[in-house]
Amino acid sequence: MEKSVKELVEIAKNFIDERDWRQFQTSKDLAEDISVEANELLELFLWKDGKELDKKTREDKEFLQKIKNETADVLFGCLAISDHLNFDLEEAFLSKIKQLEKRYSVEEVKGKSIKIDEEEWLKKNKDSV
Ligand SMILES: [Mg+2]
Repeated sequence: MEKSVKELVEIAKNFIDERDWRQFQTSKDLAEDISVEANELLELFLWKDGKELDKKTREDKEFLQKIKNETADVLFGCLAISDHLNFDLEEAFLSKIKQLEKRYSVEEVKGKSIKIDEEEWLKKNKDSV
């Protein structure tokens, strides 16, 4: 049942077109959808202890299913916006990973929990990106 990213985009596209929903979707709507779905995922964790939640995800299949559903909703939004704006999501992801590999080099960050501001990093490294 393995599917490529392009095949997943096609599945999302067909789902939308079969329902004639494209008429209701702008890039703004789809970006909002991604954010709303990400927050539905986050809501599952709201006000709960992180370590207890990790345990719960291993032991509570119903809870894990809710996480899967919301994660899939986020992915659906990402697939839909890439189709709507006609960009290659796989290429965008791989390009972003390449940039992240430079921004967070293994030598500099291995075992460290750090945040490197993207805008500042891009300014300093504009010639190497
Ligand atoms: Mg949802």
